[in-house]
Amino acid sequence: MSQNFNFQAPAMSVGPAKRKLTQAVPVRWQDHTVVVGGDAPVVVQSMTNTDTADAIATAIQIKSLAQAGSELVRITVNTPDAAKEVIHIRNQLDKMGVNVPLVGDFHYNGHRLLTQYPDCAQALSKYRINPGNVGAGQRGIDNFAQMIEVACQYDKPIRIGVNWGSLDQGLMAQMMDENAQQSTPWPAQAVMREALVLSALNSAARAQELGLPDHRIVLSCKVSQVQDLIAVYQSLSSRCDYPLHLGLTEAGMGSKGVVASTAALSVLLQQGIGDTIRISLTPEPGGARTKEVQVAQEILQTMGLRAFTPMVVACPGCGRTSSTFFQELAQEVESYLREQMPIWRSQYPGVENMQVAVMGCVVNGPGESKHADIGISLPGTGEVPSAPVYIDGERTVTLKGETIAQEFKQIVHDYVHQRYA
Ligand code: SF4
Repeated sequence: MSQNFNFQAPAMSVGPAKRKLTQAVPVRWQDHTVVVGGDAPVVVQSMTNTDTADAIATAIQIKSLAQAGSELVRITVNTPDAAKEVIHIRNQLDKMGVNVPLVGDFHYNGHRLLTQYPDCAQALSKYRINPGNVGAGQRGIDNFAQMIEVACQYDKPIRIGVNWGSLDQGLMAQMMDENAQQSTPWPAQAVMREALVLSALNSAARAQELGLPDHRIVLSCKVSQVQDLIAVYQSLSSRCDYPLHLGLTEAGMGSKGVVASTAALSVLLQQGIGDTIRISLTPEPGGARTKEVQVAQEILQTMGLRAFTPMVVACPGCGRTSSTFFQELAQEVESYLREQMPIWRSQYPGVENMQVAVMGCVVNGPGESKHADIGISLPGTGEVPSAPVYIDGERTVTLKGETIAQEFKQIVHDYVHQRYA
């Protein structure tokens, strides 16, 4: 039976909305610049969980985050000892050839640390200021002003990072009171969302009044619930042109943290909102801190916004492939590709766009493998024990026996060398 296509109808829309053009904020360390906002790609960032006063441990973790692909790394600067060590961390990184710009995270005493430790203020490339944690009343106004003065003095950008767990309580109380006077008051949740947005916008306006140019300001309003985050950032994006740092705060552990962050950020990125992202995962005991970088990259790559590492397309497996060999091969190939990337990134430009298929049986194996740049279709239960390999859509060799994994990785390596060198 033939199907009548209606080519007069508008074509299906594809891809995310064009990203909102925000101010471009350069974040620099020496001659290395990462641009947040403008038409720059969405930046991946991360945060250490070492004690900043332990310079060696912190420098080692920053290096691993940078090697995993973090383009900015934030460190907490919470005590005089931490502030004193920032310059040593920076020097250590420079010696190791790691030029990732560092962001200092300040709460409560940032005004004192930034003014009393000028080496720290200069070694950092950006300051994160939480307007809910600068102090109450006039003291808070003065403390905030002191930090902005340091940013102006050293020509550093800032992020005004509002967090609902530390929202400016004075502002919140005032808005709740005013809301209660209304004939139709808003629900408390709506007031909280508006308070987050106003705290960020008012603080940014204050920073500009104090002399910090708008192209030195990034905003964030982090909450831990997906629907709150989407609503808050939609509002923020519609009311300013500052670049926005997206992140679901306290996203949690394991798959819950990954899923919640992905759900929230994907909606916003699809709408063209967001200039830099950080995934706030609770590491599993003994788990790598770099997982948050990997997840951030995978969100951007699977949405087609950026490419970082060759992607492995693997089927879920089913009753047609009951051995675990296929799962092991998919994992081995994925790990192999990720491990190669620190070297491949510079030697083989474009390799991050490569697609590799590892499929479990003949049903979808050959088809999916032909669509990939390189693919292997393993034998399912009861099939002839051989695994055809497809390169650029053409069937090439057929692998058999115990050494399929090693041989396939070698074929992938040779393909990368031949195509991307
Ligand atoms: S490709 Fe084969 S093994 Fe994989 S899910 Fe499909 S039918 Fe199952």
